[in-house]
Amino acid sequence: MKISFLGAVREVTGSCFMVESRDSRILVDCGMHQGSTVASAENFKDFPFDAASIDSVIITHAHLDHVGKLPKLVKEGFKGKIYATAPTVKLASIVLRDAEQVMEDAYNLEYRPKLFELADVEETEKFFVPVDYSRKVKLDGLTFRFRDAGHILGSAFVEIEENGGARAAFSGDLGNIHDPILKPTAQLAAQDVLLIESTYGNRLHESVQDRSKELKQYIINTIKRNGVLIIPAFAIERTQVLLFELNHLVENRLIPPVDIFLDSPMAIKATEIMQEYPQYYNQTALKQVCAGDDIMVFPGLQKTLTRDDSKRINDSPRPKVIIAGSGMMNGGRILHHLVRYLGDARSMVLIIGYQASGTLGRQLYNGEKHVEVLSERINVKAEIKSIGAYSAHADQKQLLNWIEQAEQLPKHVYCTHGEEEASAALATRINEEFGISADVPRIGDTIKL
Ligand SMILES: [Zn+2]
Repeated sequence: MKISFLGAVREVTGSCFMVESRDSRILVDCGMHQGSTVASAENFKDFPFDAASIDSVIITHAHLDHVGKLPKLVKEGFKGKIYATAPTVKLASIVLRDAEQVMEDAYNLEYRPKLFELADVEETEKFFVPVDYSRKVKLDGLTFRFRDAGHILGSAFVEIEENGGARAAFSGDLGNIHDPILKPTAQLAAQDVLLIESTYGNRLHESVQDRSKELKQYIINTIKRNGVLIIPAFAIERTQVLLFELNHLVENRLIPPVDIFLDSPMAIKATEIMQEYPQYYNQTALKQVCAGDDIMVFPGLQKTLTRDDSKRINDSPRPKVIIAGSGMMNGGRILHHLVRYLGDARSMVLIIGYQASGTLGRQLYNGEKHVEVLSERINVKAEIKSIGAYSAHADQKQLLNWIEQAEQLPKHVYCTHGEEEASAALATRINEEFGISADVPRIGDTIKL
């Protein structure tokens, strides 16, 4: 088996690995690079392989940085199967359609080139094959299975075995064990090689109790000063976790009544898909659902699906809470709200997820006071806060625990999907804790097993 690192090494986005055996050539993930725009220039570069030569693609989960280049792959001649769990198939479709819409808007506004068209997305959808967790799928010369990664609905890590040969696992993105809805990450089987994500390879999240308290306090503060609380939402998972916690705060009267707008068509659709798959929930969430509580619906919540509904948020009186996409503020409806409220000292932007370098979200997170949004220069006067514990990713301790709890320690680990310092820090800790050799690969590197 040969593994090539084609993306998400020494950076967080653009996941793509090629696995070659004697008889087949497959990709694990085919994601977009994300920077200041949804489809940054990096994505337009040629693939380092002939798209038609790829036999199949295995998708770990539906986030854009893991599926975003599938339509480009199909456009360039890929004709194989795309394997993913059933929820991933559904979510990937809305993620790709949303990305196409965002690119279409950017094209109409600033003539930015589009990476693919709607027709390419529709074509891509035909190649998807749903596969359940734990089911072994035989490809030419290889067998693989998905295991629950606990990161977003339907997310998986992938274990691949060459017939009578080497075994390798690809972590995809690993979930935060404090996700209130999903099941925890499954156990890793014995592997020769493990590729592990390291988004938070050098950091620890705050405690779950603190995150709920902080969220509650920020909402109360916003209400007191008659402001607007803007929460940039990762449409899948973070939004649903947020709705789950808001449901708790509202139904237990822990915050005063306030209008809460969910202003993201993708998040609204993702929430509906989430509601279709209660069998993927953990015991606690499932019990709540069975007891009749709609865990993501509560008084005061308004979903604004159409553009007209969205525009009406502007006229709605303060105080109010707006949850909108994109989560890294590099596109989507959030930008219109930021133009309106970033310069307002009574308002607050609450960051609850990872902000990739180069994004507006990262600039705000870093405390920059002058930013450009939709071609407007803005003096940032709104308060910028962040709660790391809402991250959908495991932190350093959780990553190390996952390796430790494997059926057997992997023989060699490669830290991927992290900025260089994060990957390097995790590699050092893995080596120190377990005595396993751990490396941070470079883009284009190939290893032979
Ligand atoms: Zn992800």
